[in-house]
Amino acid sequence: MKTIQHWIDGTAVPGTDTAPVFDPATGRQQAQVVLGGAADVDTAVTAAARAFETWSESSLTQRTQVMFAFRQLLVEHEEELGRIISAEHGKTVDDARGEITRGREVVEFACGLGDVLKGSFSDQVSRGIDVHNFRQPLGVVAGITPFNFPAMVPLWMHPIAIATGNTFILKPSERDPSAANFVAELYQKAGLPDGVFNVVHGGKDAVDAILTHPGIEAVSFVGSTPIAKYVHEQGTSAGKRVQALGGAKNHAVVLPDADLEFAANHITAGAYGSAGERCMAVSVAVAVGDAADGLVEVLERKAREVKVGPGDAPGVEMGPLVTKVAQERVENAVGTAATQGATVVVDGRGLKIDDPTYADGFFTGPSLLDHVTVEMDAYKEELFGPVLAIVRVDTLDEAIAVINANPYGNGTALFTASGEAARRFQRNVKVGMIGVNVPVPVPMSYYSFGGWKDSLIGDSPIHGPEGIRFYTRPKVVTTRWPQPAQQVAAGFNFPTSS
Ligand code: NAD
Repeated sequence: MKTIQHWIDGTAVPGTDTAPVFDPATGRQQAQVVLGGAADVDTAVTAAARAFETWSESSLTQRTQVMFAFRQLLVEHEEELGRIISAEHGKTVDDARGEITRGREVVEFACGLGDVLKGSFSDQVSRGIDVHNFRQPLGVVAGITPFNFPAMVPLWMHPIAIATGNTFILKPSERDPSAANFVAELYQKAGLPDGVFNVVHGGKDAVDAILTHPGIEAVSFVGSTPIAKYVHEQGTSAGKRVQALGGAKNHAVVLPDADLEFAANHITAGAYGSAGERCMAVSVAVAVGDAADGLVEVLERKAREVKVGPGDAPGVEMGPLVTKVAQERVENAVGTAATQGATVVVDGRGLKIDDPTYADGFFTGPSLLDHVTVEMDAYKEELFGPVLAIVRVDTLDEAIAVINANPYGNGTALFTASGEAARRFQRNVKVGMIGVNVPVPVPMSYYSFGGWKDSLIGDSPIHGPEGIRFYTRPKVVTTRWPQPAQQVAAGFNFPTSS
Protein backbone atom coordinates (compact mmCIF):
# COMPACT_ATOMS: atom_id res chain seq x y z
CA MET A 1 0.00 0.00 0.00
CA LYS A 2 1.47 3.35 -1.08
CA THR A 3 2.05 5.82 1.78
CA ILE A 4 1.91 9.54 1.05
CA GLN A 5 4.41 11.25 3.34
CA HIS A 6 5.05 14.78 4.53
CA TRP A 7 7.46 16.91 2.47
CA ILE A 8 9.72 18.95 4.72
CA ASP A 9 12.98 20.71 3.86
CA GLY A 10 13.09 19.22 0.39
CA THR A 11 12.55 15.58 1.29
CA ALA A 12 9.82 13.05 2.11
CA VAL A 13 9.30 12.62 5.86
CA PRO A 14 7.44 9.59 7.28
CA GLY A 15 4.79 9.62 9.98
CA THR A 16 3.10 7.09 12.24
CA ASP A 17 -0.66 7.68 12.16
CA THR A 18 -2.36 7.28 8.79
CA ALA A 19 -5.72 7.72 7.07
CA PRO A 20 -7.00 5.85 4.00
CA VAL A 21 -7.09 7.52 0.58
CA PHE A 22 -9.82 6.14 -1.67
CA ASP A 23 -10.35 5.82 -5.40
CA PRO A 24 -13.85 7.35 -5.57
CA ALA A 25 -14.61 5.59 -8.87
CA THR A 26 -14.09 2.07 -7.51
CA GLY A 27 -14.79 2.84 -3.84
CA ARG A 28 -11.58 1.04 -2.86
CA GLN A 29 -8.67 2.28 -0.76
CA GLN A 30 -5.71 3.02 -3.02
CA ALA A 31 -3.16 4.56 -0.58
CA GLN A 32 -2.72 5.90 2.91
CA VAL A 33 -1.61 9.35 3.99
CA VAL A 34 0.34 10.17 7.12
CA LEU A 35 -1.44 12.31 9.69
CA GLY A 36 0.82 14.93 11.23
CA GLY A 37 0.61 16.63 14.59
CA ALA A 38 2.42 19.24 16.64
CA ALA A 39 5.86 17.63 16.25
CA ASP A 40 5.62 17.49 12.43
CA VAL A 41 4.39 21.08 12.24
CA ASP A 42 7.26 22.14 14.49
CA THR A 43 9.80 20.35 12.26
CA ALA A 44 8.33 22.10 9.22
CA VAL A 45 8.37 25.51 10.95
CA THR A 46 12.02 25.05 11.94
CA ALA A 47 12.95 24.22 8.33
CA ALA A 48 10.84 27.06 6.93
CA ALA A 49 12.24 29.59 9.43
CA ARG A 50 15.79 28.62 8.48
CA ALA A 51 14.97 28.88 4.78
CA PHE A 52 13.35 32.28 5.35
CA GLU A 53 16.69 33.75 6.42
CA THR A 54 18.14 33.35 2.93
CA TRP A 55 14.96 33.31 0.79
CA SER A 56 13.79 36.67 2.14
CA GLU A 57 17.20 38.09 1.14
CA SER A 58 17.05 36.67 -2.41
CA SER A 59 16.61 39.16 -5.24
CA LEU A 60 13.33 39.80 -7.01
CA THR A 61 15.04 38.45 -10.13
CA GLN A 62 15.91 35.14 -8.47
CA ARG A 63 12.40 34.70 -7.10
CA THR A 64 10.84 35.59 -10.44
CA GLN A 65 13.09 33.13 -12.25
CA VAL A 66 11.92 30.32 -9.95
CA MET A 67 8.30 31.28 -10.67
CA PHE A 68 8.87 31.24 -14.45
CA ALA A 69 10.51 27.80 -14.20
CA PHE A 70 7.74 26.50 -11.93
CA ARG A 71 5.10 27.78 -14.34
CA GLN A 72 6.78 25.95 -17.23
CA LEU A 73 6.89 22.70 -15.23
CA LEU A 74 3.18 23.04 -14.46
CA VAL A 75 2.54 23.28 -18.21
CA GLU A 76 4.72 20.26 -18.98
CA HIS A 77 3.21 18.10 -16.20
CA GLU A 78 -0.41 19.22 -16.53
CA GLU A 79 -1.66 15.86 -17.80
CA GLU A 80 0.24 13.90 -15.11
CA LEU A 81 -0.94 16.18 -12.30
CA GLY A 82 -4.46 16.11 -13.74
CA ARG A 83 -4.50 12.31 -13.52
CA ILE A 84 -3.20 12.38 -9.92
CA ILE A 85 -6.03 14.76 -8.95
CA SER A 86 -8.68 12.79 -10.83
CA ALA A 87 -7.61 9.49 -9.24
CA GLU A 88 -8.09 10.77 -5.66
CA HIS A 89 -10.83 13.39 -6.10
CA GLY A 90 -12.95 11.71 -8.76
CA LYS A 91 -13.34 14.70 -11.11
CA THR A 92 -12.61 14.20 -14.81
CA VAL A 93 -9.02 14.55 -15.99
CA ASP A 94 -10.01 17.47 -18.25
CA ASP A 95 -11.70 19.23 -15.33
CA ALA A 96 -8.56 18.66 -13.22
CA ARG A 97 -6.45 20.15 -16.02
CA GLY A 98 -8.79 23.15 -15.93
CA GLU A 99 -8.09 23.71 -12.24
CA ILE A 100 -4.34 23.48 -12.89
CA THR A 101 -4.67 26.11 -15.61
CA ARG A 102 -6.58 28.46 -13.31
CA GLY A 103 -4.03 27.88 -10.55
CA ARG A 104 -1.15 28.43 -12.97
CA GLU A 105 -2.56 31.88 -13.72
CA VAL A 106 -1.66 32.84 -10.14
CA VAL A 107 1.93 31.74 -10.83
CA GLU A 108 1.84 33.98 -13.91
CA PHE A 109 0.66 36.85 -11.71
CA ALA A 110 3.58 36.09 -9.37
CA CYS A 111 5.97 36.14 -12.36
CA GLY A 112 5.15 39.86 -12.59
CA LEU A 113 6.45 40.32 -9.06
CA GLY A 114 8.72 43.22 -9.99
CA ASP A 115 5.70 45.24 -11.01
CA VAL A 116 3.20 44.24 -8.33
CA LEU A 117 5.68 44.78 -5.48
CA LYS A 118 6.68 48.29 -6.57
CA GLY A 119 6.44 50.89 -3.83
CA SER A 120 5.81 54.59 -4.34
CA PHE A 121 7.96 57.66 -3.86
CA SER A 122 7.00 61.24 -3.01
CA ASP A 123 9.61 63.86 -3.78
CA GLN A 124 10.05 66.94 -1.55
CA VAL A 125 7.11 66.36 0.83
CA SER A 126 8.77 69.01 2.95
CA ARG A 127 11.88 71.02 2.12
CA GLY A 128 14.67 68.50 1.57
CA ILE A 129 12.52 65.58 2.64
CA ASP A 130 11.28 62.65 0.55
CA VAL A 131 9.02 59.71 1.45
CA HIS A 132 8.94 56.24 -0.02
CA ASN A 133 7.35 52.94 0.94
CA PHE A 134 7.99 49.27 0.32
CA ARG A 135 6.64 45.94 1.49
CA GLN A 136 8.45 43.06 3.19
CA PRO A 137 7.52 39.40 3.71
CA LEU A 138 6.01 38.19 6.98
CA GLY A 139 8.11 35.07 7.60
CA VAL A 140 6.73 31.51 7.80
CA VAL A 141 3.12 31.34 6.58
CA ALA A 142 0.72 28.40 6.23
CA GLY A 143 -2.15 27.33 3.99
CA ILE A 144 -4.95 24.93 4.96
CA THR A 145 -6.93 23.77 1.95
CA PRO A 146 -10.07 21.78 1.01
CA PHE A 147 -10.42 18.57 -1.00
CA ASN A 148 -12.30 20.02 -3.93
CA PHE A 149 -9.41 21.81 -5.67
CA PRO A 150 -6.26 20.01 -4.47
CA ALA A 151 -4.05 21.96 -6.91
CA MET A 152 -5.83 25.26 -7.62
CA VAL A 153 -6.72 26.41 -4.11
CA PRO A 154 -3.16 25.93 -2.75
CA LEU A 155 -1.95 27.67 -5.94
CA TRP A 156 -4.10 30.68 -4.93
CA MET A 157 -1.76 30.97 -1.95
CA HIS A 158 1.81 29.68 -2.23
CA PRO A 159 3.07 31.35 -5.43
CA ILE A 160 2.27 34.79 -4.04
CA ALA A 161 3.50 33.99 -0.54
CA ILE A 162 6.77 32.57 -1.88
CA ALA A 163 7.35 35.20 -4.57
CA THR A 164 6.99 37.95 -1.97
CA GLY A 165 9.76 36.30 0.10
CA ASN A 166 7.89 34.17 2.63
CA THR A 167 8.35 30.46 3.28
CA PHE A 168 5.29 28.24 3.20
CA ILE A 169 3.75 25.22 4.93
CA LEU A 170 0.80 23.59 3.14
CA LYS A 171 -1.68 21.41 5.01
CA PRO A 172 -3.77 19.94 2.18
CA SER A 173 -6.95 17.91 2.50
CA GLU A 174 -6.31 14.39 3.75
CA ARG A 175 -8.82 13.09 1.17
CA ASP A 176 -6.68 13.89 -1.91
CA PRO A 177 -3.18 14.62 -0.63
CA SER A 178 -0.92 13.55 -3.53
CA ALA A 179 -1.14 16.73 -5.63
CA ALA A 180 0.60 18.69 -2.84
CA ASN A 181 3.67 16.41 -2.91
CA PHE A 182 3.80 16.50 -6.71
CA VAL A 183 3.78 20.31 -6.63
CA ALA A 184 6.56 20.27 -3.99
CA GLU A 185 8.72 18.23 -6.35
CA LEU A 186 8.03 20.63 -9.22
CA TYR A 187 9.13 23.56 -7.03
CA GLN A 188 12.36 21.71 -6.23
CA LYS A 189 12.97 21.08 -9.95
CA ALA A 190 12.29 24.78 -10.58
CA GLY A 191 15.21 25.68 -8.31
CA LEU A 192 13.30 26.68 -5.18
CA PRO A 193 15.62 26.20 -2.18
CA ASP A 194 14.68 23.41 0.23
CA GLY A 195 12.54 24.50 3.17
CA VAL A 196 10.75 27.29 1.27
CA PHE A 197 7.77 25.06 0.40
CA ASN A 198 6.77 22.29 2.81
CA VAL A 199 3.81 19.95 3.10
CA VAL A 200 2.46 18.60 6.39
CA HIS A 201 -0.41 16.18 5.93
CA GLY A 202 -3.14 15.57 8.46
CA GLY A 203 -6.48 16.66 9.85
CA LYS A 204 -7.57 18.60 12.92
CA ASP A 205 -4.38 17.91 14.93
CA ALA A 206 -2.17 19.36 12.22
CA VAL A 207 -4.51 22.35 11.79
CA ASP A 208 -4.55 23.05 15.53
CA ALA A 209 -0.75 22.86 15.65
CA ILE A 210 -0.53 25.42 12.82
CA LEU A 211 -3.02 27.74 14.51
CA THR A 212 -1.10 27.81 17.78
CA HIS A 213 2.55 27.62 16.61
CA PRO A 214 4.28 30.91 17.54
CA GLY A 215 6.62 30.61 14.53
CA ILE A 216 3.80 30.94 11.97
CA GLU A 217 2.89 34.53 11.10
CA ALA A 218 -0.17 34.07 8.88
CA VAL A 219 -2.69 31.40 7.92
CA SER A 220 -4.70 31.18 4.70
CA PHE A 221 -7.71 28.88 4.93
CA VAL A 222 -10.23 27.69 2.35
CA GLY A 223 -12.93 25.18 3.30
CA SER A 224 -16.36 24.95 4.91
CA THR A 225 -17.79 27.87 6.89
CA PRO A 226 -17.78 26.27 10.38
CA ILE A 227 -14.07 25.41 10.05
CA ALA A 228 -13.32 28.81 8.49
CA LYS A 229 -14.87 30.47 11.55
CA TYR A 230 -12.88 28.21 13.88
CA VAL A 231 -9.61 28.84 12.05
CA HIS A 232 -10.18 32.60 12.01
CA GLU A 233 -11.04 32.72 15.70
CA GLN A 234 -8.15 30.50 16.84
CA GLY A 235 -5.58 32.00 14.48
CA THR A 236 -6.34 35.64 15.22
CA SER A 237 -6.47 35.03 18.97
CA ALA A 238 -2.96 33.55 18.64
CA GLY A 239 -1.92 36.85 17.02
CA LYS A 240 -1.75 35.66 13.40
CA ARG A 241 -3.05 37.21 10.22
CA VAL A 242 -5.85 34.97 8.95
CA GLN A 243 -7.75 34.92 5.68
CA ALA A 244 -10.55 32.34 5.80
CA LEU A 245 -12.80 31.53 2.86
CA GLY A 246 -15.88 29.46 3.64
CA GLY A 247 -18.76 27.63 1.99
CA ALA A 248 -21.33 28.77 -0.53
CA LYS A 249 -24.82 28.53 -1.97
CA ASN A 250 -24.66 30.17 -5.37
CA HIS A 251 -27.79 31.41 -7.14
CA ALA A 252 -28.21 31.85 -10.89
CA VAL A 253 -31.14 34.14 -11.67
CA VAL A 254 -32.89 33.70 -15.02
CA LEU A 255 -35.06 36.54 -16.31
CA PRO A 256 -37.82 35.97 -18.88
CA ASP A 257 -35.83 37.91 -21.52
CA ALA A 258 -32.86 35.50 -21.29
CA ASP A 259 -32.01 32.98 -24.01
CA LEU A 260 -33.28 29.92 -22.10
CA GLU A 261 -31.27 27.37 -24.08
CA PHE A 262 -28.07 29.33 -23.42
CA ALA A 263 -28.91 29.86 -19.73
CA ALA A 264 -29.86 26.21 -19.18
CA ASN A 265 -26.72 24.99 -20.92
CA HIS A 266 -24.48 27.11 -18.70
CA ILE A 267 -26.43 26.46 -15.51
CA THR A 268 -26.26 22.70 -16.16
CA ALA A 269 -22.47 22.86 -16.55
CA GLY A 270 -22.18 25.12 -13.49
CA ALA A 271 -24.38 22.84 -11.37
CA TYR A 272 -23.10 19.39 -12.33
CA GLY A 273 -19.48 20.08 -13.38
CA SER A 274 -17.10 18.44 -10.89
CA ALA A 275 -20.24 16.75 -9.48
CA GLY A 276 -21.23 20.06 -7.87
CA GLU A 277 -18.18 19.94 -5.61
CA ARG A 278 -17.13 23.51 -6.38
CA CYS A 279 -17.44 26.50 -4.09
CA MET A 280 -18.68 28.40 -7.16
CA ALA A 281 -21.07 25.67 -8.34
CA VAL A 282 -24.55 26.84 -9.24
CA SER A 283 -26.75 25.16 -6.64
CA VAL A 284 -29.92 27.28 -6.97
CA ALA A 285 -31.58 28.52 -10.16
CA VAL A 286 -33.95 31.39 -9.39
CA ALA A 287 -36.51 31.45 -12.17
CA VAL A 288 -38.25 34.80 -12.54
CA GLY A 289 -41.88 34.99 -13.74
CA ASP A 290 -42.54 33.38 -17.13
CA ALA A 291 -39.00 31.99 -17.36
CA ALA A 292 -39.77 29.11 -14.98
CA ASP A 293 -41.64 26.46 -16.99
CA GLY A 294 -39.46 26.79 -20.09
CA LEU A 295 -36.29 26.78 -18.01
CA VAL A 296 -37.23 23.63 -16.10
CA GLU A 297 -38.06 21.87 -19.35
CA VAL A 298 -34.60 22.57 -20.83
CA LEU A 299 -32.77 21.92 -17.55
CA GLU A 300 -34.44 18.52 -17.27
CA ARG A 301 -33.37 17.56 -20.78
CA LYS A 302 -29.80 18.73 -20.13
CA ALA A 303 -29.56 16.98 -16.74
CA ARG A 304 -30.59 13.68 -18.32
CA GLU A 305 -27.88 14.09 -20.98
CA VAL A 306 -24.95 14.44 -18.51
CA LYS A 307 -22.49 11.57 -19.01
CA VAL A 308 -21.51 10.14 -15.61
CA GLY A 309 -18.58 7.77 -15.16
CA PRO A 310 -15.02 7.38 -13.88
CA GLY A 311 -13.01 10.59 -14.19
CA ASP A 312 -10.36 9.09 -16.47
CA ALA A 313 -12.77 7.64 -19.07
CA PRO A 314 -13.07 9.49 -22.39
CA GLY A 315 -16.28 11.49 -22.89
CA VAL A 316 -17.27 11.47 -19.22
CA GLU A 317 -18.57 14.85 -18.02
CA MET A 318 -19.16 14.12 -14.34
CA GLY A 319 -17.28 11.75 -12.02
CA PRO A 320 -18.18 10.26 -8.63
CA LEU A 321 -18.34 12.16 -5.35
CA VAL A 322 -15.25 12.22 -3.19
CA THR A 323 -16.38 9.85 -0.42
CA LYS A 324 -19.14 7.42 0.49
CA VAL A 325 -20.23 9.89 3.19
CA ALA A 326 -20.64 12.63 0.58
CA GLN A 327 -22.63 10.28 -1.67
CA GLU A 328 -24.98 9.35 1.18
CA ARG A 329 -25.37 12.97 2.31
CA VAL A 330 -26.36 14.11 -1.18
CA GLU A 331 -28.77 11.23 -1.80
CA ASN A 332 -30.41 11.72 1.61
CA ALA A 333 -30.84 15.43 0.83
CA VAL A 334 -32.76 14.58 -2.37
CA GLY A 335 -35.05 12.30 -0.35
CA THR A 336 -35.60 14.98 2.30
CA ALA A 337 -36.41 17.55 -0.39
CA ALA A 338 -39.14 15.27 -1.75
CA THR A 339 -40.55 14.79 1.75
CA GLN A 340 -40.56 18.53 2.33
CA GLY A 341 -42.59 19.17 -0.84
CA ALA A 342 -40.09 19.75 -3.64
CA THR A 343 -40.76 18.13 -7.03
CA VAL A 344 -37.95 15.74 -7.97
CA VAL A 345 -37.81 16.35 -11.74
CA VAL A 346 -34.61 14.34 -12.22
CA ASP A 347 -33.59 11.84 -9.54
CA GLY A 348 -29.88 11.01 -9.54
CA ARG A 349 -30.04 8.60 -6.61
CA GLY A 350 -28.88 5.05 -7.02
CA LEU A 351 -27.06 5.60 -10.30
CA LYS A 352 -25.02 2.56 -11.34
CA ILE A 353 -22.19 2.53 -13.87
CA ASP A 354 -22.49 -0.27 -16.39
CA ASP A 355 -19.16 -1.90 -15.45
CA PRO A 356 -18.59 -4.12 -12.35
CA THR A 357 -15.24 -2.36 -11.67
CA TYR A 358 -17.23 0.66 -10.56
CA ALA A 359 -20.01 -1.14 -8.68
CA ASP A 360 -18.90 0.32 -5.33
CA GLY A 361 -17.91 3.76 -6.63
CA PHE A 362 -19.29 6.87 -4.95
CA PHE A 363 -21.51 7.79 -7.89
CA THR A 364 -24.75 9.69 -7.87
CA GLY A 365 -26.41 11.19 -10.93
CA PRO A 366 -27.53 14.79 -11.49
CA SER A 367 -30.67 15.68 -9.54
CA LEU A 368 -33.05 18.51 -10.42
CA LEU A 369 -35.52 19.78 -7.79
CA ASP A 370 -38.35 22.15 -8.70
CA HIS A 371 -40.65 24.23 -6.45
CA VAL A 372 -37.99 24.49 -3.77
CA THR A 373 -38.69 27.13 -1.12
CA VAL A 374 -36.23 28.98 1.06
CA GLU A 375 -37.50 27.08 4.13
CA MET A 376 -36.47 23.67 2.75
CA ASP A 377 -33.21 21.99 3.79
CA ALA A 378 -32.26 21.54 0.12
CA TYR A 379 -32.18 25.33 -0.10
CA LYS A 380 -30.65 26.12 3.27
CA GLU A 381 -27.81 23.60 3.32
CA GLU A 382 -24.67 23.55 1.21
CA LEU A 383 -25.16 20.09 -0.35
CA PHE A 384 -21.86 20.16 -2.28
CA GLY A 385 -23.09 17.64 -4.81
CA PRO A 386 -24.85 17.46 -8.19
CA VAL A 387 -28.20 18.81 -7.04
CA LEU A 388 -29.79 21.87 -8.64
CA ALA A 389 -32.73 23.46 -6.79
CA ILE A 390 -35.18 25.72 -8.61
CA VAL A 391 -36.80 28.53 -6.66
CA ARG A 392 -39.60 30.39 -8.45
CA VAL A 393 -40.13 34.13 -7.85
CA ASP A 394 -42.12 36.88 -9.61
CA THR A 395 -39.61 39.71 -10.03
CA LEU A 396 -35.91 40.49 -10.21
CA ASP A 397 -36.16 42.46 -6.95
CA GLU A 398 -37.65 39.39 -5.28
CA ALA A 399 -34.75 37.29 -6.62
CA ILE A 400 -32.25 39.80 -5.22
CA ALA A 401 -34.04 39.71 -1.84
CA VAL A 402 -33.80 35.88 -1.77
CA ILE A 403 -30.05 36.02 -2.48
CA ASN A 404 -29.45 38.77 0.07
CA ALA A 405 -31.29 36.86 2.80
CA ASN A 406 -29.08 33.81 2.26
CA PRO A 407 -26.21 33.60 4.77
CA TYR A 408 -23.68 32.83 2.02
CA GLY A 409 -22.46 35.34 -0.56
CA ASN A 410 -19.76 33.69 -2.65
CA GLY A 411 -20.87 33.80 -6.29
CA THR A 412 -24.03 34.56 -8.24
CA ALA A 413 -25.08 34.99 -11.86
CA LEU A 414 -27.78 36.73 -13.82
CA PHE A 415 -29.01 35.56 -17.22
CA THR A 416 -30.68 38.40 -19.09
CA ALA A 417 -30.63 40.51 -22.25
CA SER A 418 -31.19 43.71 -20.24
CA GLY A 419 -28.29 45.98 -19.32
CA GLU A 420 -30.49 47.84 -16.87
CA ALA A 421 -31.39 44.62 -15.03
CA ALA A 422 -27.75 43.54 -14.98
CA ARG A 423 -26.66 46.88 -13.54
CA ARG A 424 -29.36 46.81 -10.85
CA PHE A 425 -28.43 43.23 -10.00
CA GLN A 426 -24.70 43.80 -9.64
CA ARG A 427 -25.18 46.97 -7.58
CA ASN A 428 -27.75 45.54 -5.16
CA VAL A 429 -26.79 41.92 -4.63
CA LYS A 430 -24.75 41.16 -1.48
CA VAL A 431 -22.33 38.72 -3.09
CA GLY A 432 -18.61 39.02 -3.80
CA MET A 433 -18.33 37.54 -7.31
CA ILE A 434 -20.98 38.19 -9.94
CA GLY A 435 -21.48 36.83 -13.44
CA VAL A 436 -23.63 38.43 -16.10
CA ASN A 437 -24.53 35.59 -18.46
CA VAL A 438 -21.49 33.82 -16.94
CA PRO A 439 -22.48 31.00 -14.55
CA VAL A 440 -19.24 30.45 -12.59
CA PRO A 441 -17.62 33.89 -12.34
CA VAL A 442 -14.22 32.95 -10.88
CA PRO A 443 -12.07 36.10 -11.14
CA MET A 444 -8.79 36.11 -13.05
CA SER A 445 -5.65 35.90 -10.92
CA TYR A 446 -4.92 39.63 -11.16
CA TYR A 447 -8.21 40.34 -9.41
CA SER A 448 -8.88 38.86 -5.98
CA PHE A 449 -11.20 35.97 -5.15
CA GLY A 450 -13.59 36.19 -2.23
CA GLY A 451 -17.22 36.19 -1.21
CA TRP A 452 -19.26 38.17 1.28
CA LYS A 453 -21.05 37.16 4.48
CA ASP A 454 -20.46 33.56 5.64
CA SER A 455 -18.42 32.82 2.50
CA LEU A 456 -15.51 34.87 3.78
CA ILE A 457 -14.62 35.22 7.44
CA GLY A 458 -12.45 38.23 8.25
CA ASP A 459 -11.64 40.86 5.65
CA SER A 460 -9.14 39.43 3.22
CA PRO A 461 -10.00 37.92 -0.16
CA ILE A 462 -7.38 35.70 -1.73
CA HIS A 463 -4.73 36.12 -4.51
CA GLY A 464 -4.30 39.12 -6.82
CA PRO A 465 -3.60 42.47 -5.14
CA GLU A 466 -5.15 41.26 -1.86
CA GLY A 467 -2.71 38.33 -1.85
CA ILE A 468 0.26 40.69 -2.09
CA ARG A 469 -1.18 42.77 0.74
CA PHE A 470 -1.90 39.71 2.90
CA TYR A 471 1.58 38.19 2.64
CA THR A 472 3.55 41.41 3.16
CA ARG A 473 3.87 44.24 5.66
CA PRO A 474 4.36 47.86 4.58
CA LYS A 475 7.16 50.21 5.64
CA VAL A 476 7.16 53.96 5.04
CA VAL A 477 10.49 55.79 5.08
CA THR A 478 10.88 59.54 5.52
CA THR A 479 14.36 60.69 4.41
CA ARG A 480 16.46 63.83 4.65
CA TRP A 481 20.05 64.19 3.41
CA PRO A 482 21.17 67.58 4.74
CA GLN A 483 24.04 69.34 2.98
CA PRO A 484 27.09 69.39 5.23
CA ALA A 485 26.88 73.10 5.96
CA GLN A 486 23.10 73.28 6.19
CA GLN A 487 21.68 74.02 9.62
CA VAL A 488 18.18 72.68 10.21
CA ALA A 489 16.51 73.62 13.44
CA ALA A 490 15.31 70.59 15.40
CA GLY A 491 11.89 71.68 16.71
CA PHE A 492 10.34 70.31 19.87
CA ASN A 493 6.84 70.63 18.46
CA PHE A 494 5.24 67.72 16.59
CA PRO A 495 6.81 67.82 13.09
CA THR A 496 4.77 69.40 10.31
CA SER A 497 5.65 69.94 6.70
CA SER A 498 6.93 73.32 5.50
P1 NAD B 1 -13.47 21.22 5.24
O1 NAD B 1 -13.82 22.49 5.93
O2 NAD B 1 -14.02 19.95 5.76
O3 NAD B 1 -11.87 21.03 5.23
C1 NAD B 1 -11.01 22.08 4.87
C2 NAD B 1 -9.68 21.89 5.60
O4 NAD B 1 -9.90 21.96 7.00
C3 NAD B 1 -9.03 20.54 5.32
O5 NAD B 1 -7.64 20.73 5.17
C4 NAD B 1 -9.35 19.73 6.56
O6 NAD B 1 -8.36 18.78 6.86
C5 NAD B 1 -9.44 20.78 7.65
N1 NAD B 1 -10.41 20.41 8.70
C6 NAD B 1 -11.52 19.67 8.56
N2 NAD B 1 -12.17 19.55 9.73
C7 NAD B 1 -11.44 20.25 10.64
C8 NAD B 1 -11.60 20.52 12.04
N3 NAD B 1 -12.63 20.03 12.73
N4 NAD B 1 -10.67 21.28 12.64
C9 NAD B 1 -9.63 21.77 11.96
N5 NAD B 1 -9.43 21.54 10.64
C10 NAD B 1 -10.33 20.81 9.98
O7 NAD B 1 -13.84 21.43 3.70
P2 NAD B 1 -13.82 20.35 2.53
O8 NAD B 1 -14.94 19.39 2.72
O9 NAD B 1 -12.45 19.81 2.35
O10 NAD B 1 -14.12 21.28 1.27
C11 NAD B 1 -15.41 21.67 0.88
C12 NAD B 1 -15.79 23.00 1.48
O11 NAD B 1 -14.85 24.01 1.09
C13 NAD B 1 -17.13 23.49 0.98
O12 NAD B 1 -17.82 24.08 2.05
C14 NAD B 1 -16.76 24.54 -0.07
O13 NAD B 1 -17.75 25.52 -0.31
C15 NAD B 1 -15.55 25.13 0.55
N6 NAD B 1 -14.72 25.81 -0.42
C16 NAD B 1 -14.74 27.17 -0.43
C17 NAD B 1 -14.00 27.86 -1.37
C18 NAD B 1 -14.02 29.36 -1.40
O14 NAD B 1 -13.23 29.92 -2.14
N7 NAD B 1 -14.86 30.04 -0.65
C19 NAD B 1 -13.22 27.16 -2.29
C20 NAD B 1 -13.21 25.77 -2.23
C21 NAD B 1 -13.97 25.10 -1.29
